[in-house]
Amino acid sequence: MLRKPVARIDLTALQHNLRQVRQLAPESKVLAVLKANAYGHGMLKVAEQLQQADAFGVARLDEALSLRAGGVVKPIVLLEGFFDADELPQIVASNLQVVVHQQEQVDAIVAAELDAPIRVWLKMDTGMHRLGLMPEHYQTAYQRLSQSPNCLPAFRLMSHFACADDRQSPDTQAQLQCFYHHSQGLAGEVSLANSAGVLAWPESHQQWVRPGIMLYGVSPMLQQQAMPIELKPVMTLCSRVIAVRSIAAGETVGYGSAWQTPQATRLAVVAIGYGDGYPRNVPNGTPVLVHGKRYPIVGRVSMDMLTIDIGTDAVQSGDEVVLWGQGLPVAEIAAKVGTIPYELLCNITPRVDFHYN
Ligand code: PLP
Repeated sequence: MLRKPVARIDLTALQHNLRQVRQLAPESKVLAVLKANAYGHGMLKVAEQLQQADAFGVARLDEALSLRAGGVVKPIVLLEGFFDADELPQIVASNLQVVVHQQEQVDAIVAAELDAPIRVWLKMDTGMHRLGLMPEHYQTAYQRLSQSPNCLPAFRLMSHFACADDRQSPDTQAQLQCFYHHSQGLAGEVSLANSAGVLAWPESHQQWVRPGIMLYGVSPMLQQQAMPIELKPVMTLCSRVIAVRSIAAGETVGYGSAWQTPQATRLAVVAIGYGDGYPRNVPNGTPVLVHGKRYPIVGRVSMDMLTIDIGTDAVQSGDEVVLWGQGLPVAEIAAKVGTIPYELLCNITPRVDFHYN
C-alpha cells in the first residue's frame, strides 16, 4: 500500500457541478475556467471531462498551448489576454481567443498583420481595478477594434466582479450598472458572472457565465448560506497513518513543542505536510477524518508529516486520513488559516499523486 498523499479527483462530481451551473443559468453558455492547472485538479483531465462546456478559460498562453497540445479543440479564451504583440501569430495559429483589457493591446491588434482574425473579449473595468479598459474608453476601443480586419466581427463584452461573493455588498449592482451604461448600443454577447455571479446574481448571467471554483465543488460565497443547488467536492486530499504512539500526560509534540498533551493519549502520525501543500499554519484542533470521524491536528505541521490525537480509538498504521474534500469541506480548512479554498487547492505540490475516477 502506498503511504503517500493522494488527491482523489472525482470526475463525476465535476460533471455534476457543471450540470448545476446549467441549472442556475440555463440560457447562458459556459466558459469553464481551467487556469492554474484547473485550480490544482489537473487541467487536461478536467478539460477532457468537461465536454459539455462551451469554452475554456485560462490565464496564460502556455496554459492554452498545453491544452491544445493535449488535443483540446474547444474554444479557449486567454483571460489575461496577451502581453506582447509577438504572441499574436501563435494565438492565431492555435485558434485562441483573447481578452483585451488595455489600450496597448488594442494598438497591437490594430497594427498587427495576422493570417486570420481573432475573437476578442473586450473587458471593461467596472470597479475591480485589476484588468479592463476604463468605462469612458470602452466605446472607442470597441470602435477601433471593430474597424480592424484583425478582429472577428462578433465581440464578447465582459467585466469581472470584485465582491459578488457577498450578497450584501452594493458593489456588484454598481458594477452591473456601470457596465450596462457604458456598453450601451454595442453589439456582442455579454459575460460578467464568475461562480459567485452564477450562484447569487441571476441578473448577471447574460450570454456567457465563467464559473471556476464552483465546478470544483466549492462555494465561493462568504457566508456559507443555503444554496439553491448542491455542489460536490471534486478533490479529496488524503494520506495514511504511518505510526501510532502512546504519549504520557504533559509531554510536548512536534517542532517548537507547540502542543502539550493534557492527559495521556495516543497520537497518529500522518504522511502529509507542507511539502505536499497542506498549510503549515493550521491551528491546533484543525480536523481531519479517519473512518469518517473527526480528529484534531495537534502540534505543528512539518514538511512530510502531521500528528493527530486519536485518544483510545482504534486508528492504526495504514488507515486512510482525509485532509479535505468528501465529508470535510476545504473551505473549513481554508477558514482556519485565514485564506480561501482556491489557494489551498492550487497549492498542492507535484509530490502528491493524482488519482482520477
Ligand atoms: N473570470 C475571470 C476573468 C477570472 O479571473 C476568474 C477567476 O478568478 C473567473 C472568471 C472564475 O472565478 P471563480 O473561480 O470565482 O468562479
